[in-house]
Amino acid sequence: MSLSGPYDPGNIFAKILRGEAPCFKLYEDAFVLSFMDVFPQSKGHALVVPKAVAARTLLDLPPDHLGPLFAGVQIVARAVEKALRPDGIRLAQFNGAPAGQTVFHVHVHVIPIYEGRALVGHGAAGMANKDELAALAERIAAAV
Ligand code: AMP
Repeated sequence: MSLSGPYDPGNIFAKILRGEAPCFKLYEDAFVLSFMDVFPQSKGHALVVPKAVAARTLLDLPPDHLGPLFAGVQIVARAVEKALRPDGIRLAQFNGAPAGQTVFHVHVHVIPIYEGRALVGHGAAGMANKDELAALAERIAAAV
């Protein structure tokens, strides 16, 4: 998938946003939904997804959604910091398959970094244990 092209409403994040697929929810407001990445690169890897837009990449996102998206990112990053006390937090955002994008609804990764613990590569992680994800989601959501 290149940078340009039609938005596919069948993508997994669109299904999550419509309530047709499950997620481990962390935070929601009028503009964003945040949930756990089920193939986490580190403990507490979260995603923030803009709602009510058919945007494949950041390039497609209406400018008036940019501020609310990154306000949501900050809320979630602060909650991750409070709940899990990582040593750092990396934000990542991929546009187009050659850049590493695998789900074609624009989103931002919030990836906690723990000193001395190697980060799993993007797209290289296995599926996390559902009970562990649920427990982490509960801690992060409670810290929002
Ligand atoms: P990207 O590669 O930047 O498009 O990121 C997509 C992310 O979505 C990857 O980190 C995947 O692990 C994650 N992912 C894929 N399917 C799901 C899902 N059903 N629930 C939560 N995260 C998912």
